[in-house]
Amino acid sequence: VEEDEQSRRKSLLYSLMSQYLSRDVSSIERYIVDHVEHTLARTRFNFDKFDAYLATALSVRDRLIESWNDTQQYFTEAGVKRAYYLSMEFLMGRQLQNALINLGIHDQYREALKELGFELSILEDEEPEPGLGNGGLGRLAACYMDSLATLNYPVWGYGIRYQYGMFEQKIKDGNQIEIPDFWLAKGNPWEMQRLDVTYPVQFYGHVSVTNKDGKLQVRWEGGQMVRAIAYDIPIPGFDTYNVLNLRLWSSSPPEEFDLEAFNRGDYFSSIGEKQLAEKLTSVLYPNDSTEAGKELRLKQQYFFVSATLQDIMRRFKKLQLPIQQLVNKAAIQLNDTHPTIAIPELLRLLIDKEGLGWEEAWDWTVQIFSYTNHTVLPEALEKWPVTLMERLLPRHMQIIYEINRRHLEWVSQMFPGDEKILESVSLIEDGFPKMVRMASLAVVGSHRVNGVAALHSELVKKQLFPHFAVMTPDKFLNITNGVTPRRWIVVANPALSAVFTRWLETDDWITDTRLLNQLEQFQKHDDFIREIEEAKRSNKQRLAMRISQQFGIQVDNNALFDIQVKRIHEYKRQLLNILGVIHRYLFIKQLDTEKRKYVVPRVVVFAGKAAASYAQAKRIIRLINGVSSVVNNDPSIDDLLKVFFLPNYNVSLAEDIIPASDISQHISTAGMEASGTSNMKFVMNGGLILGTMDGANIEILQNIGNENIFIFGLNSDQVLDARRSNEEFPLDPRLEKVKQTIADGTFCNQKVAEPILSCLVPKNDFYMICRDFPSYLEAQDAIDEAFKDKKEWTKKTIRSMARMYYFSSDRAVEEYAQKIWNIEPAPFIPSTISFKD
Ligand code: PLP
Repeated sequence: VEEDEQSRRKSLLYSLMSQYLSRDVSSIERYIVDHVEHTLARTRFNFDKFDAYLATALSVRDRLIESWNDTQQYFTEAGVKRAYYLSMEFLMGRQLQNALINLGIHDQYREALKELGFELSILEDEEPEPGLGNGGLGRLAACYMDSLATLNYPVWGYGIRYQYGMFEQKIKDGNQIEIPDFWLAKGNPWEMQRLDVTYPVQFYGHVSVTNKDGKLQVRWEGGQMVRAIAYDIPIPGFDTYNVLNLRLWSSSPPEEFDLEAFNRGDYFSSIGEKQLAEKLTSVLYPNDSTEAGKELRLKQQYFFVSATLQDIMRRFKKLQLPIQQLVNKAAIQLNDTHPTIAIPELLRLLIDKEGLGWEEAWDWTVQIFSYTNHTVLPEALEKWPVTLMERLLPRHMQIIYEINRRHLEWVSQMFPGDEKILESVSLIEDGFPKMVRMASLAVVGSHRVNGVAALHSELVKKQLFPHFAVMTPDKFLNITNGVTPRRWIVVANPALSAVFTRWLETDDWITDTRLLNQLEQFQKHDDFIREIEEAKRSNKQRLAMRISQQFGIQVDNNALFDIQVKRIHEYKRQLLNILGVIHRYLFIKQLDTEKRKYVVPRVVVFAGKAAASYAQAKRIIRLINGVSSVVNNDPSIDDLLKVFFLPNYNVSLAEDIIPASDISQHISTAGMEASGTSNMKFVMNGGLILGTMDGANIEILQNIGNENIFIFGLNSDQVLDARRSNEEFPLDPRLEKVKQTIADGTFCNQKVAEPILSCLVPKNDFYMICRDFPSYLEAQDAIDEAFKDKKEWTKKTIRSMARMYYFSSDRAVEEYAQKIWNIEPAPFIPSTISFKD
């Protein structure tokens, strides 16, 4: 009887489900209007654009939830090993268009909305962007989630649901100002609050040891409790039923009420403490590649790690397996050192809670964890004062000491009597104050450590962890970053995507970028070249419209669009770019009319945010804006040069800018950019690169051929040599002239100019701007020359696009799955679910 009942229930649920998943236009209209009326409580006869966006998003979310539930149920039933991607940042970008495209229902939704009186593309622009990341690192996590879902890997992302994301950047009088980004103000239809998934997280307190039946029991007691609440964001893959989960934690006060304080009549102070708990996850630290070292940041890290590990353990316990099996069911990836406190936290859970011995607990911990390094810049390497750790996380500090004791014992056996090595590999840096080195802890506590581009992975071994690399060479590997072709070609560049699909006679390239290789053969067809040029022109037109709306200046689509968009950082050298622009301006100004005919007109575009406390980066923004206003208002220059700083660089702006480039600049001082990912996106969208031999530029060159990329400047070895020898050299006279114009106050006042000029002398040339300036100008000249032959230029872009297979994040996540996590794809086939309770 019970079996009959189960089977009746199952078939009922099936029939309900299949009805609900209808993809026809009129069903979609009904779902949307249903949400307008029943979820938003607006009348279906009168709702505005934003309501229409919300209702549309909610109807898409319904679909995602169904597939999400089925996928997760399937993973559990199949008992697959899962990987967990822990990242303090996920820079997801807008969700609606991407979800519709991945689900294959973009056209149906466009049609349905048209009948309801709305244009889908306009509604897509209503979506606030969730800016829960600083830049490359967070965007990488987002690309990886897309690829993992598309390839059916059983992976979850874990992060923090900041209430204030990356600040909104405005430009006032040429200066950056930061406006808080309360992105949740109008609600977020893409998340599901899970009040059923909450965990307590402890801070401060003390450690007590008791002897129970001859066994020492360690307890972490007292202190402050905060509650973590889960918010789930479904992540659809392209052309698959599987939907993954991104679980973001939000802090809230613990459920228990402090009765004592209440009874003391101290009602308001007990509430005050609760409000503090809520602040924990309120803001994203807006620092990129520099460490803030603030107590609240460490609290955020532990908060998110503690909730995540409790969640992973709970999921594992549902399988009712011995704890020894954990390593066969879970792999944990640390996206940079930010979640490294997870290593001592897992040890604590295994030893203090599960009762395991140290050796066993340690072996599994190391096998479970792996760590991605994102930078070799010393200022970015996280260190926490031992005193802070002892106060905030007393048990973890004890565990870190014990890891270190055993680790140093092992090292001293390998290198007897070598104090220097011991000092260099110790997890604790001696000094005042003593600091915990989080990167070293991540290396010691992981079985794999990867860099994010070939050169970077070499530098991780040679510069950052030379002794670790000798002691455990097999730990270290490279996985070059990748980017998702769904968002960065299909979503961002529909015009180009249509050309690809038309000529390849299939859209399979969206999931198999190797097929793009076949585009190369079409470079002999004039029709193909024309269509590629047409797509580029329409993308340039879209950017030109934005520029004209923002600045009231019409730019020429035939001009060379020269773009540098990324965080503003001295090592990324936006300064070198703007110095080059000033040189170009001065050069054009002294040309006579005849000679001007040979100048290639340029539109130079900058965008990027500076960390709020990064004074030099903000001065560089001020200088760029100064140059922009002088050049754009100089009638004697005509249309030969225009310069713009587009405010508030984020994923949506990137989607508009990247397809519109002829040239993009990735010109970091060699050895300083770990990989870069926008470089890949630009080339995939038919732009060429002006770059240094740094990060993934090197591998892009190797894949597309050096005739299709403009390279200049010192390489990473030469940079080190130049820094070591610090030899004098004469400044390029063109640079002298540029400096003179800045010093004259042409573009900005002395308060801005002086600290910039003081870096532009040989002895302060840490970022090699003076040294690289002449070769930078030469490369720019070569670009002008090449651009004059439009057809040949387009052929270069075609060859480059065709050879970018390697830089798909599908390739990258496959490497993680095979070389690090040891997990297999687990595609869910809808008819196989059993609906077990
Ligand atoms: N910020 C945003 C908004 C992005 O979309 C990207 C990449 O596309 C980045 C930062 C990283 O750029 P880059 O690799 O040039 O540092």
